[in-house]
Amino acid sequence: MDRIEGSAAADLDIRRPGDAGFDEARAVWNAMVDHRPALIVRCRRTADVVEALALARREGLEVGVRCGGHSVVGHGVPDGGLMIDLTPMGAVRVDPERKRAWVQGGALLGALDQATQPYGLATTAGNVSHTGVGGLTLGGGMGWLARQCGLACDNVVSYEVVTAAGEVVRASADERPDLYWALRGGGGNFGVVTEFEFRLHDVGTRALSVGLDFPIGTLLPTALIATRRWRDLSESAPRQATYTASVHDGVVTLGFVWVGDPAEGRVHARALDSLGRPADRRVTELSYLDLQTQEDTIEGHALRRYWKGHYFRELPDAALEVLLAHGPKVHAGLQAYGGAIADVPDDEAAFSQRETRFEYVVATGWTDPAEDEALIAAARRSAARLEPFASGVYVNVLADDGVTGVRRAYPPTKLARLAAVKSVYDPDNVFHLNQNIPPAPS
Ligand SMILES: Cc1cc2nc3c(=O)[nH]c(=O)nc-3n(C[C@H](O)[C@H](O)[C@H](O)COP(=O)(O)OP(=O)(O)OC[C@H]3O[C@@H](n4cnc5c(N)ncnc54)[C@H](O)[C@@H]3O)c2cc1C
Repeated sequence: MDRIEGSAAADLDIRRPGDAGFDEARAVWNAMVDHRPALIVRCRRTADVVEALALARREGLEVGVRCGGHSVVGHGVPDGGLMIDLTPMGAVRVDPERKRAWVQGGALLGALDQATQPYGLATTAGNVSHTGVGGLTLGGGMGWLARQCGLACDNVVSYEVVTAAGEVVRASADERPDLYWALRGGGGNFGVVTEFEFRLHDVGTRALSVGLDFPIGTLLPTALIATRRWRDLSESAPRQATYTASVHDGVVTLGFVWVGDPAEGRVHARALDSLGRPADRRVTELSYLDLQTQEDTIEGHALRRYWKGHYFRELPDAALEVLLAHGPKVHAGLQAYGGAIADVPDDEAAFSQRETRFEYVVATGWTDPAEDEALIAAARRSAARLEPFASGVYVNVLADDGVTGVRRAYPPTKLARLAAVKSVYDPDNVFHLNQNIPPAPS
């Protein structure tokens, strides 16, 4: 166990309010977040993270850890505290023979995909390339490969972690298995991950996306019948297919995303003929890299944002009716789970609710602060109507849900085990700007 004493912080790249780059470094994806740290430490290496933590301790500053900056409530940026800015640590190294990638703690998903795809390799990453590997993987990491290859966290072989005490440790199945268990789904509660070692898979470079539009308005029975059939088909879908549905502006779009041979995906697309006659049908062949960036603009920075989410173990017809009745100005989406996600025994990692069939997110984005209240209320209303059908929630989709949200994300037994691990690695809850799991009382 290396221990680097927090001595002179002379070599640290520190930005204070007014310094060049300060405002750029504190800006995050959600334009509603306007947090102003007292200090930003731009970390270039693991030793900088150790120094930054020592500095925070000496100055009595609250600590935030920032990777891609996509926490919807801006957890990475502490107001008045010290921000550990991992963005300079964005490198990815690949060994195509061993099918491994070593990813620094501040890397974005795009860097991971860019580094692995020249070899026809990939591992599960999320759907928008400017999201951080850090926050996404620590909470689980859902993406188009998850039904084939497991969640992002299921593919982490080892972690390099700086603990709250400033120790640099490794966690894997053989080293500190308690920490390894907690890091796979427990979020940023247990330390600063400076490197992830990922398992890679031969998934090729091709993909297919299929979307059928059914207007809801006057054709509710048609849209509802189509959505029911889509739900039923998703149950027996091959693992290359991740079924998706979205409701927006009076239209439900039903389909799937396929990673693998597009010709096989086209064959599977014929199954959707049974949904009925859509107003529009799109079947788009694209590269895996294009798939992984196709939502980058629509999900871009600079908008004010709010979202809420649920997990569903079942989606009865009554829930689909509520889904189709979503009001204007919000966008509701479903993404299917199952496949390799559900293969992993539930107690093998902190990530919970692997029996989930669909993840739901209702989101809204706008520019005028005068609309904040109305649009946040609209998203909350939509989510509340579906809550009676929900079985839980994905921790990375929690926003301002607080303790109640964390209790929806993990069952009590997992929370107790997570709290016990927390009390070993972060007994003073230094890392609390996250979906927090406080240490178990000693
Ligand atoms: C546009 C968009 C698309 C998304 N798509 C998906 C998706 O397809 N699949 C999915 O699963 N999720 C998705 N998410 C949710 C996403 O996983 C979470 O918002 C996640 O927290 C973002 O991580 P980040 O590193 O970008 O955020 P940050 O705000 O930088 O970090 C969030 C928190 O993660 C922790 N953290 C981050 N990096 C580290 C690290 N190296 N060590 C320790 N702690 C760390 C910290 O607690 C930090 O507060 C999406 C979010 C957005 C905004």
